[in-house]
Amino acid sequence: MGLLSQGSPLSWEETQRHADHVRRHGILQFLHIYHAVKDRHKDVLKWGDEVEYMLVSFNHENRKVQLVLSGEDVLETLQEKGERTNPNHPTLWRPEYGSYMIEGTPGQPYGGTMSEFNTVEDNMRKRRKEATSVLGENQALCTITSFPRLGCPGFTLPEHKPNPKEGGASKSLFFPDEAINKHPRFATLTRNIRHRRGEKVAINVPIFKDKNTPSPFVETFPEDEEAANAAKPDHIYMDAMGFGMGNCCLQVTFQACSISEARYLYDQLATICPIVMALSAASPFYRGYVSDIDCRWGVISASVDDRTREERGLEPLKNNRFRISKSRYDSIDSYLSKCGEKYNDIDLTIDKEIYEQLLREGIDHLLAQHVAHLFIRDPLTLFEEKINLDDANESDHFENIQSTNWQTMRFKPPPPNSDIGWRVEFRPMEVQLTDFENSAYVVFVVLLTRVILSYKLDFLIPLSKVDENMKMAQKRDAVLQGMFYFRKDICKGGNAVVDSCSKAQTSSEPAAEEYTLMSIDTIINGKVQPEQALSSMGRCGLNGACAVSASWQSV
Ligand code: GLU
Ligand code: MG
Repeated sequence: MGLLSQGSPLSWEETQRHADHVRRHGILQFLHIYHAVKDRHKDVLKWGDEVEYMLVSFNHENRKVQLVLSGEDVLETLQEKGERTNPNHPTLWRPEYGSYMIEGTPGQPYGGTMSEFNTVEDNMRKRRKEATSVLGENQALCTITSFPRLGCPGFTLPEHKPNPKEGGASKSLFFPDEAINKHPRFATLTRNIRHRRGEKVAINVPIFKDKNTPSPFVETFPEDEEAANAAKPDHIYMDAMGFGMGNCCLQVTFQACSISEARYLYDQLATICPIVMALSAASPFYRGYVSDIDCRWGVISASVDDRTREERGLEPLKNNRFRISKSRYDSIDSYLSKCGEKYNDIDLTIDKEIYEQLLREGIDHLLAQHVAHLFIRDPLTLFEEKINLDDANESDHFENIQSTNWQTMRFKPPPPNSDIGWRVEFRPMEVQLTDFENSAYVVFVVLLTRVILSYKLDFLIPLSKVDENMKMAQKRDAVLQGMFYFRKDICKGGNAVVDSCSKAQTSSEPAAEEYTLMSIDTIINGKVQPEQALSSMGRCGLNGACAVSASWQSV
């Protein structure tokens, strides 16, 4: 879940005092990287997946299932036996937000050949086996997006009571601080999000109603005024970062051959995020209740929403600089390629000074506004030992802001002085129960990138429509019932070639006629109309396109 600095975290007041310093140097660090590697090209496809896991204990006698708070020890053992013993170890392990979570990736990135696609499931199996082998009796490593009883009394092993009083990191009525990973980054993030916001985070998820659900469904919290005010009728109320960041997902990162290919893929895949999220939807349960949604997205978004009342538009702007329309964890707000420019129809809040500085330094409008938008945020954590850095050779301040903008897609510049290229990360997918399913999703997305590039496909629609799709994707059973805006003719692009994306757009067709509402079935499997069958990729659907790509790749 982002940059892990070692050291002593500063208090919120001190972190805030250094906010401009972090932003100023973060931008200088970005500029150093950009100027050093902007012309880098011919990098090859390399990619990797990230799977997040929960440690679960089964008490069969009492029929009780709990989350085991041993993530830190399990991680230590796995790293000791793995990467520290053998640099070529096939798996890598990292901490995640929950003390009951760990994250696993392949030891080395995959390349672009078909044979490597065939090793993904096997590598995921290795990870599961390896981590399972260091667990206690009756414990299992589970890939569950949302643990159904997260936040219910006694949901952890060992059990802990929540600490709603002053002094706690979450101050949650339900989620004990002991369930947060012990690395100082995580509790500090939790505390500082709450301090910055000025109150606890508030998450309200619509409850699923059957004949036994009281109507209205109302929970009362007489001892907690904040909760009493924040909880909505007919909703499941949650009040801690852990309810969101304590969920698991499945992510994929690709290395593009150049910065322009990375920008093109970033845009194209942004439109696919809601589709694949609905397809992978796996999280209907929150705080022991059945909800009326089946994706985690909005829950995590609210769980790290550090905006003040002023920034959320609830009070006039006095102490803050901007009204901000979304949480730090949300969908992207602007396309990055020239082809995307005409579809950038969301109001973008940017730091004007940073934007102008970037333009002066030779960065184009689209990339400058992207970075100036990320940098409207404050740093949420800062480590005493990491304040003064060498901007030409380090990037911690840039990463500090970048890695706490948790968006559907992430555009990732290479780390300074490394042989890594420009990358994009695909972040919306929910994790599935089995390695088979997870590897299928991952390989599908990677194949899709090959199809997009080989056939120069164009999925772009106005970003406001992608946002509407994100809302639709979270509705219960959107995968079967939902209708999503999607481009009618994805081959028409032709002009969506990576290179021509850096030239001005020529298409004169009004954007509104380029897309229509489709079901996920149509988007994925296509809709064969006899006279047009197979005549264009648009009729084959994404699945057909990927099959074409797979057979083409194997030639
Ligand atoms: N667990 C988060 C999610 O479900 C992602 C955290 C991360 O960025 O690694 O989206
Ligand atoms: Mg993660």
